[in-house]
Amino acid sequence: MEARRLRHALRRQRVALHPDAGDVHDCHPPEVEEWPEDRLADLMVREIEEGVADTGVRAGHIGEIGCETPTDRERKVLRAATQAQGRTGAMLMIHQGWKPGDQVTQHRLLDTVEASGGSVRRTVLAHVDRTGADPGLQASVLERGVTIEYDIFGYEVSRAGAWDREVPSDIRRILDLRRLIEAGFRDQLVVAQDICFKTMQSAYGGVGYSHILRRLLPGFRALGVSDDDVHAILVTNPMRLLNFTEPVE
Ligand SMILES: [Zn+2]
Repeated sequence: MEARRLRHALRRQRVALHPDAGDVHDCHPPEVEEWPEDRLADLMVREIEEGVADTGVRAGHIGEIGCETPTDRERKVLRAATQAQGRTGAMLMIHQGWKPGDQVTQHRLLDTVEASGGSVRRTVLAHVDRTGADPGLQASVLERGVTIEYDIFGYEVSRAGAWDREVPSDIRRILDLRRLIEAGFRDQLVVAQDICFKTMQSAYGGVGYSHILRRLLPGFRALGVSDDDVHAILVTNPMRLLNFTEPVE
C-alpha cells in the first residue's frame, strides 16, 4: 500500500490494521532487479523497525512475498525476506501458486527459508485452499513446522482462471480444516479472507470482511469443529505468529 493511502487508512481505522513489508508477485519495481539481496533485506528491516516510507507506521510482518512459479526474481525477494525475518523475528508470509500434482514447489520454498537464515516455524504459506485435494502433500509440508492459511473463504466460484484449478466451497474448506485438526495440525492452521476484488466487498455485492465471523462460525460448529479448535485457529495461532520473537542471528 502506498504511503499516503496507508496513512489515510490508519486515520479511519476501526479495526487493527497490520501493514506488511516486502513485494508481492513478479511485477516488481526496478530496484528488485538492480539491488543486491542484502539491500532489499535492509529495506524490509527498515519498514519493520522504523516505518514504511515516511509514515512512521511500522510493518507488523513480512509478506505476502509472491512466489508463483517461482521466478528468479521471486526467489531473490524470498531470500531477502527470509534474511529480514531472521534479523527481526517477524512472521513471514509467502504467496504461492499450486496446481494439482505439484509436489515440489512448496517444499522448495521452505528449503529456501531454511537455507537463507529464516524460520519455517515462523512462516505461513498463504492461499492453500486448493491443496486439500492432495492431503499427503499437505501433511508433508506441515510436518516441517510451517503454518498454512486457508484464506479465500467466501470465494465460491467453481474455478480460478484455469480449468485445472477447482476452487473449493466454504464447506469443503471447513471439512479440510477438520481433517487437519484430527491429524494433529491444529496449531499450524490460520484462516482469512483474501479480499482482492471489488466484487468481494459488501458494497459491491460480495460477502464482505465480516464473512468468517458473521456467517461461518455456525458452519464450523455444524461440521464438527469444536469452539476450542476455532479459538485456536482464529485467535491463538495468529497471536503467536504476529508476535515478534528474538532475531535468529
Ligand atoms: Zn496472494
